[in-house]
Amino acid sequence: MIKEAGSSIRNKTGSWRTFRPIVTDKCIGCSICIWYCPENCIRIVEKDGKKKAAVNYEHCKGCLLCKGQCPSKAIESEKETSK
Ligand code: SF4
Ligand code: SF4
Repeated sequence: MIKEAGSSIRNKTGSWRTFRPIVTDKCIGCSICIWYCPENCIRIVEKDGKKKAAVNYEHCKGCLLCKGQCPSKAIESEKETSK
């Protein structure tokens, strides 16, 4: 079951975002980023037999704490262009 932080469900904090985190193929699915995400919007998904972090962009506010904490340097970021 997917859990979301209460505030992000109500506020869809994705609209706050200036920078978008991008999970690259360097991700080893260790889950550490999940523990640091204040919006609880990262999940580990399995694709082609490999575990990888996935960000729910409706709730990601772009704080990039995940990027700073990833031991594999697997999260990159780019400026949002949709605003
Ligand atoms: S901390 Fe980095 S390597 Fe670990 S799951 Fe998150 S993105 Fe992947
Ligand atoms: S940038 Fe990373 S830590 Fe911040 S809200 Fe988005 S997924 Fe969570």
